[in-house]
Amino acid sequence: MTAAYDLHCHSTASDGHLTPAAVVQRAAEQGVATLALTDHDTVAGLAEARSAAAGCGVRLIPGVELSVLWQGRTFHVVGLGFDPDEPGLQDGLARMQRARQARGEAIGERLERAGLSGAREGARAVAGAAEIPRAHYARWMVDSGKVRGYEEAFKRYLRRGRVGYVHGDWVAMEEGIEWICRAGGIAVLAHPLGYDLTGAWIRRVLDAFAAAGGEGMEVACGTSPDPRQVGQLGGWCRRYALLASTGSDFHGPGHPSRELGAAPPLPGDLPCVLEALDERR
Ligand SMILES: [Zn+2]
Ligand SMILES: [Zn+2]
Repeated sequence: MTAAYDLHCHSTASDGHLTPAAVVQRAAEQGVATLALTDHDTVAGLAEARSAAAGCGVRLIPGVELSVLWQGRTFHVVGLGFDPDEPGLQDGLARMQRARQARGEAIGERLERAGLSGAREGARAVAGAAEIPRAHYARWMVDSGKVRGYEEAFKRYLRRGRVGYVHGDWVAMEEGIEWICRAGGIAVLAHPLGYDLTGAWIRRVLDAFAAAGGEGMEVACGTSPDPRQVGQLGGWCRRYALLASTGSDFHGPGHPSRELGAAPPLPGDLPCVLEALDERR
């Protein structure tokens, strides 16, 4: 069953495979009535998505997925329903783009030194953008036969502890949440089971997140679709009195559990972030 809304997905404005307009079009075809485009650290795709949404009857909610640091580790915070033109947020995102650009270059240098010659130019050619996310290095490795698949690219070269891993100079979690709140949006902790943390650590993150003004968490994620995972996330959502969000984390076709609108349904008793956004409008 396809959910009528999907509040987490990516386009070519960051590391997705489809243009913002194509993502919106595909969402409409999948029966998604309300969509938030949440590209990594940028709102550059929103204008194109907005006009596409108007053309096919989809309601578009402004979104972004910020990379933030807490206790030296990277977490993702989805911002929803903010004013994309708010100057503080704009400045913050410009700073994040500079950090992403520097990181992309540094990954390329490390991979070249490790013997993967042509990595930087190859990854840049994937999207032709100034900034090179890890996914583009992975795609270059797959396309040029260095690895058999994306997973292997991350496992062997790109993930934490591997030769091509570079720590991102991201914003502190508290400050990232502040950017979103000041712009009138709601900050949501993305895919809480995606950080390789124990339950005790996830609770610590949620403590800090809620104390800093974070109001929501993803409970139904395309990346953890198992009903037991939804149940566990729902439990934390109740305990911290957060708003529940849902999203596929769609990056492109070919992954059924991460298709637009394919995240499992939210437990019925949880307050949904979408209702809170409607109330504040
Ligand atoms: Zn994420
Ligand atoms: Zn994402």
